[in-house]
Amino acid sequence: MRTPVRSRQLFARARQILPGGVDSPVRAFQAVGGTPLFIRRAAGATIVDVDGNRFIDYVMSWGPLIHGHAPPGLVRAAAATARLGTSFGAPTALEHELGERVRALVPSMARVRFVSSGTEAAISAVRLARAFTGRDRIVKFAGCYHGHGDAFLVKAGSGATTLGVPTSPGVTRAVAADTLLARYNDLDSVRALFDAQPAGIAAIIVEPIAGNMGVVPPAGQFLAGLRSLAMQHGALLIFDEVISGFRAAAGGAQAVFGIAPDLTCLGKIIGGGFPVGAYGGRADVMEMVAPAGPVYQAGTLSGNPVAMTAGLWALKRLTGRLYRDLARRGAMLAAGLADAARAAGVPVQVNAFGSVLTPFFTSSPVRDYDSALTANTGAYATFFRGMLARGIYPPPSQFEAWFLSAAHTDRDIARTIEAAHAAMKDVARAI
Ligand SMILES: *Cc1c(COP(=O)(O)O)cnc(C)c1O
Repeated sequence: MRTPVRSRQLFARARQILPGGVDSPVRAFQAVGGTPLFIRRAAGATIVDVDGNRFIDYVMSWGPLIHGHAPPGLVRAAAATARLGTSFGAPTALEHELGERVRALVPSMARVRFVSSGTEAAISAVRLARAFTGRDRIVKFAGCYHGHGDAFLVKAGSGATTLGVPTSPGVTRAVAADTLLARYNDLDSVRALFDAQPAGIAAIIVEPIAGNMGVVPPAGQFLAGLRSLAMQHGALLIFDEVISGFRAAAGGAQAVFGIAPDLTCLGKIIGGGFPVGAYGGRADVMEMVAPAGPVYQAGTLSGNPVAMTAGLWALKRLTGRLYRDLARRGAMLAAGLADAARAAGVPVQVNAFGSVLTPFFTSSPVRDYDSALTANTGAYATFFRGMLARGIYPPPSQFEAWFLSAAHTDRDIARTIEAAHAAMKDVARAI
């Protein structure tokens, strides 16, 4: 890898105008040290920085790019739409076409509203659940991320099932107090919250396959248990499938596990690399959204035609073969990373689900936020830098998912595993 001279110059300049030099915190490489690489271009599974370094990319824009970077067909389709006008603030047929396709893939989404980000989808779904139930509180799980809405920036105090305290300054105590925290993969922690507030909880919001504390799949009857607890207590179940939607399967995690939530949040893949989010679900609930009903929610660029076109292109190409190939390569990579760690004597737990995975640098199985936090982040940082030096671009944080795409080849995976063997030896020397 060439010294990233130009990236360093650009970062220095960016910091004079953008807080921390970036527009989203994880991009700044703070968790792994060094300066972030500025990207010039990408194609398929390859990303190229401004100093001319090439990497096999496993960030893939944090999940949207299931078909790889800049598929030529998608770029052509988006350009053709843009030539007709980039935004109207009036309906186009593309919106209900994409909506119909979403419903065909995710049948629990009888009605769909498009927004511009996953954050907006989650904020709006919770507002709607509160309006529908006439209740204020929500249950979220420590380690699950639902975007940066105030209600979600809350972590556990002492123990995982306490009243929330704000994680970020600027979130009021009043907002935080309406967010109750439970432990992922622990139904008892959810039961205890319902017992304490039998008629106060509007919704349970959950990543059905957690991806934002690193990948943590749901254990046993966890999702089924959430479905029945919500039903029993008159609360709505919201699946935040911003990552898992169109990723775990064409129908999302809800298709894999056979659980129908009341509301679903989507993002990432649904925009084919453009800014799109969506929320949707039961018709009786969604019909409360304005202008059909009284729950206000709007967006100047919602349903943007260029973004809808990219989303349609991406969703039309979710074949059975795509998921079989992704799962096979995901399993290859997970096994390869585990082998590399074993060979170097470095304790690593690889959690994987299809085409997402996380190597946790810990000897304890990771099934919730507390066990994720046992990971040695210093070891991950050493591993990350070792991979980068060898032409592989993993996520610049221990607590993020690696994403595969249709563009990653068996050869890419083999090269990645080879690099991992060397990078794990760097870690073994360092710890
Ligand atoms: C990325 C993500 C979000 C937020 O989406 P943005 O488009 O970044 O606002 C919400 N929920 C989950 C599960 C996510 O992974």
